[in-house]
Amino acid sequence: MSFRVGVLGTGAIGKDHARRLHRTIHGVEVVAVYDVNTDSAHECIKDIPGAVVMSTPEELINSDIVDAIVITSASFTHEEFCLKSIEANKPVFVEKPLALSSEGSRKIVDLEMKLGRKLTQVGFMRRFDTGYLAMKKLLDSGEIGVPLVAHCAHRNVKAMPGADNLEAVNGSGIHEFDCMSWLLDDYFVSVQAIFPRKTKNALGELSDPQILIMTTSKGIVVDLEIFLNCKYGYDIQCEVVAEEGITKLQDPSDIVIRRDAKLYTDILVDWKDRFIAAYDVELQAWADAVNRGDNVDGPSAWDGYSASLVSEAALKSQLSGQTEKIDITGRPEFYR
Ligand code: NAP
Repeated sequence: MSFRVGVLGTGAIGKDHARRLHRTIHGVEVVAVYDVNTDSAHECIKDIPGAVVMSTPEELINSDIVDAIVITSASFTHEEFCLKSIEANKPVFVEKPLALSSEGSRKIVDLEMKLGRKLTQVGFMRRFDTGYLAMKKLLDSGEIGVPLVAHCAHRNVKAMPGADNLEAVNGSGIHEFDCMSWLLDDYFVSVQAIFPRKTKNALGELSDPQILIMTTSKGIVVDLEIFLNCKYGYDIQCEVVAEEGITKLQDPSDIVIRRDAKLYTDILVDWKDRFIAAYDVELQAWADAVNRGDNVDGPSAWDGYSASLVSEAALKSQLSGQTEKIDITGRPEFYR
């Protein structure tokens, strides 16, 4: 069984996902793409026989040859493209963030509930990473007791041009907002942003690094360091301290080198490489779900909305310096 997909947005991850869907994922065929940058759209399909470039996002979404949509365009477009895909009654895989505001994410949740169909899966791929999955299995087993504290770090070599405090939480921190809720089987109730001394490598208004202290409904405290100009590599760290033990995410395995009186391992520098296997598993799970008629096998629109609420409270705290409350209660039966 196979369905036909249209990809909206053919930048860095759009090209990657289109290639992945064409070459690696079973049960799906890439038939159309769209991007405001037409050259980029044509480049994206040059090795995908039969795929076409559409003239507008609406043409792609409503096309008879497109059964489902993948949204990998700039973040500000996600809400609109997602709503239009749902209105067209088509399954949609949307890269994070679901929308730029919680209000935008809520509209997607409300539209799905109104139509009575879950159609949206959000691209929080860490839930499909073997390291995080192993930690989750251990924590769920109860073998090391209940979690008490988690220490996380999200470090990039160099911030994207124009990156600001919104990007720090909505582009980077949002991965932890989702994956730590999932890992700890809990939801966040408060967040405080703290700005330490700023690196000379941060441009403009970006406070870099920044620390978010988040508390869950069960009282677990998660500290997250977001450091977008760390210089040395793309580095994701996660350690959970529980009552009877500690579990820590392994660094991606690589060879160890002994040379010049040193013992060392390389650190990845490109985000695309860190979760390369997780993206494959994530998109295969989505494709299988669409072919089964379930449409979603992973983070739902509700999860995207929950992460937006944490983002928004973090942004508020960046301005106020205070601990800000988050209200994620009231998960509808529809999303249980
Ligand atoms: P990118 O390279 O800048 O690609 C975004 C593309 O969207 C660009 O080609 C851009 O064109 C295009 N675009 C802008 N406005 C558009 C519109 N109105 N309609 C259609 N296309 C439009 O960015 P990226 O790194 O691929 O990121 C894309 C999305 O994926 C972002 O939302 C990001 O948060 C997400 N992402 C997720 C992960 C993950 O690990 N899950 C990793 C990376 C990115 P122009 O360049 O001409 O503006």
